[in-house]
Amino acid sequence: MANSGQKVVLITGCSSGIGLRIAVMLAKDEKKRYHVIATMRDLKKKDKLVEAAGDAYGKTLVLLPLDVCSDESVKQCINNVKDRHIDILINNAGVGLLGPVESISIEEMKRVFETNFFGVVRMIKEVMPDMKKRRSGHIIVMSSVMGLQGVVFNDVYTASKFAMEGFCESMAVQLMKFNVRLSMIEPGPVHTEFETKMMEDVAKMEYPGADADTVRYFKDVYLPSSTDIFEALGQTPDDIAKCTKKVIE
Ligand code: NDP
Repeated sequence: MANSGQKVVLITGCSSGIGLRIAVMLAKDEKKRYHVIATMRDLKKKDKLVEAAGDAYGKTLVLLPLDVCSDESVKQCINNVKDRHIDILINNAGVGLLGPVESISIEEMKRVFETNFFGVVRMIKEVMPDMKKRRSGHIIVMSSVMGLQGVVFNDVYTASKFAMEGFCESMAVQLMKFNVRLSMIEPGPVHTEFETKMMEDVAKMEYPGADADTVRYFKDVYLPSSTDIFEALGQTPDDIAKCTKKVIE
């Protein structure tokens, strides 16, 4: 349970990558300013987080299950937080999708929107009434540079982040009147499992519906150059965790 004076921070998608590092960095804060509720949709994946948290686990860091794609899971998770009191909500969970649009089914596209857009909407809807009532709170959203700029073959991912940014920019105005802040973080490439998962999906892709020129452009031009950009510009999840900590301080 949080000590008085500690801020309660709930983070989505802490099984890996940026969410995991934010959770650990805040839980290990030298002044113990944060009580971290690290959430993940499958608690069987908790080992990496528990190991990285070390002594903080069970003290300044606790775990709860949360699937941002499920209304029930979101409600249950927030109801499990004492007095539903969350000072800082960090919407980090997200999925990527890469490839020619002709080859991507509408079902796959909906999965991306379910997570990256409706996942954030669900969380904000659930915590907002209590934050407004208390007239305090801070909501952080992990967007992307692709929430600002379209990028070829990232059409659907980019659209999901644009949609989320539009929603959040509009919400921020309403929330500000209740002293609730909303901030967006827009990282460039970051070395996490995100990239690996997308490349695994790409390796399985059979390109139904796409013409030969598009497939060639995707495989021979886009993929190698995007790998080079990742190598050259890629930040670490700790870089983004540090930036997030600065935003909430
Ligand atoms: P990872 O793939 O390492 O982490 C994504 C996290 O989201 C995982 O914990 C994953 O859980 C979780 N997640 C996915 N779907 C759900 C769901 N339905 N409910 C709850 N959790 C879910 O990627 P990153 O750490 O890189 O990504 C974190 C955020 O940063 C994302 O929003 C991403 O869009 C954004 N971002 C990433 C960039 C990058 O280059 N890596 C660049 C810019 C922004 P599980 O293990 O269960 O799949």
